[in-house]
Amino acid sequence: MVLLGAVTLLFSGLVCSAADKPPPGSEWSELQRRYRGVFVLSAPRESRKVALTFDDVPDPRFTPQVLDVLNTKHVRATFFVVGTRMLKHPDLLKRIDRDGHDIGNHSYSHPDFSRIPLDKVQQQIIRSEEIVEKLVGFKPKLVRPPYGEIRPAQLDWAKQQGYTVVNWDVDSRDWRQLTADEVFRNVTSAVRPGSVILMHAGGGEGQNLLGTVQALPRIIDWLRNHHYEPVPLTELLDVRENREDSTNLFPPFGLP
Ligand SMILES: [Zn+2]
Repeated sequence: MVLLGAVTLLFSGLVCSAADKPPPGSEWSELQRRYRGVFVLSAPRESRKVALTFDDVPDPRFTPQVLDVLNTKHVRATFFVVGTRMLKHPDLLKRIDRDGHDIGNHSYSHPDFSRIPLDKVQQQIIRSEEIVEKLVGFKPKLVRPPYGEIRPAQLDWAKQQGYTVVNWDVDSRDWRQLTADEVFRNVTSAVRPGSVILMHAGGGEGQNLLGTVQALPRIIDWLRNHHYEPVPLTELLDVRENREDSTNLFPPFGLP
């Protein structure tokens, strides 16, 4: 019960998704060059695969609705999960896994990594991955730092540990509580082959992500009409998770 109390306290203080940063500038591109395969903004541009990614989950207000849309459209996506939220909604995490989506680590309590020392960053990652392992049986290699903020020393550690840190090259800006039309336009005007698209399926207190939920089916239809193929990040980036179950259970669509 002491643990539960602590979790509630942390959760209520969480300002998740209030401000994941604007799209990457040259600094991120430079890091991507320097940490090839470790810090990633997008895949190589030669294939028309793209990845839909959803941060700050699980959240019972929006995550189930996003999962329903993805199910209806037969799309697999990637969900970046927060430790405190998994502890509150473990069944939702299990559903994300059962539905065949990728799970990435978005820290334990959503701090800005550029403002905390390396050992605290390590604790944030490890604490969260232990919860994922306990609930669905594997430790994610995919990591996304809150707000996209990360320092070179932290990337050195990530590289050594075999993590792939994935930010994005397309920002839906949906956390600003945009309308479905605005979310749709932000994604479709910026997407390119190999893009990683940032969206949210969880929000802060009082934050409304209905625009995201309503835009999602239209975005998927638009992508397919323009010959883009939405795939999970592990497929887009060729990352192999240490999962016993998933590789054969959920083959890429179109393969036997
Ligand atoms: Zn976030």
